[in-house]
Amino acid sequence: MENQPKQEFYHLLDLQDCPYCGGSALLEEENGWCFYVACMDCDRHTAEVEYRSDAGREEAARQAAYLWNIGKVLTGTPGE
Ligand SMILES: [Zn+2]
Repeated sequence: MENQPKQEFYHLLDLQDCPYCGGSALLEEENGWCFYVACMDCDRHTAEVEYRSDAGREEAARQAAYLWNIGKVLTGTPGE
């Protein structure tokens, strides 16, 4: 199907709570070129996972979720 909602696969991703503060995690999309997962309660987040096509987009989201869930988490503001 074409023109599916942008967040169609988000519910398939299983995000664990923040490994540092136990806060809720949120999958973020940055200006249509990458995904990362960020904690809503502290500054920690994963690295940005870039994608270059719609085909790679879901994989990028999955990779961001994977990085989060294995604890590959950074501090500071994404992109800086
Ligand atoms: Zn946190």
